[in-house]
Amino acid sequence: MKIFTGEKNKVLRGTAVPVEKVDDEIIDLADKMFEAMQEKGIGLAAPQVGVPKRVILVTLGKKVHLMVNPEILSFSAECEIEEEGCLSLPNQFGKVSRAKRVVVKYLDVNGQEQEREVSDLDARVVQHEIDHLNGVLFTDRLISKKINMQSSSV
Ligand SMILES: [Zn+2]
Repeated sequence: MKIFTGEKNKVLRGTAVPVEKVDDEIIDLADKMFEAMQEKGIGLAAPQVGVPKRVILVTLGKKVHLMVNPEILSFSAECEIEEEGCLSLPNQFGKVSRAKRVVVKYLDVNGQEQEREVSDLDARVVQHEIDHLNGVLFTDRLISKKINMQSSSV
C-alpha cells in the first residue's frame, strides 16, 4: 500500500467517515496498513493509505493495536512537548505539545468496545493518529519548525 504524502493532499486533509462494522474488509485494510507501517512508523491512519475511514493502528508499548472509530473521552491538563514526524510528511519534524494522558474509546479487532487510558508516547501516538481522521497534520500544531525545504514544496 502506498502512503500518501503532502500537506495539501485531499485525502489527508479530509474528514474520515465512521466504520459501521468491524468486518473482513476492515481487517483486510488493517493488515495492509500493518504492512505499510512496518519498520517505518509507530502508528498509521487509514487516510494515509488513501482510505477515508476512521481506522488507526497504534503501537502501544511494543504491541500494535487496531482502533476503529477512536474517540478521546478525556485529555489530561498536563501537556508535554516532544518532537514528532509523520510517514505522510517525509523529512519534516517539529515540536508539538500534546496532553500527557488521554482516555480513548474505540472498537477493537473483534468489534468490541474498549476504553483505555494511555500516557506519554502512547498518548502522543493516539492523538497524532486521531488527528489524521480529522484532516489535521502535526505541522498544524507545531510550536517550532525544522523543515527540509525541498520536501515542503510537495
Ligand atoms: Zn502522521
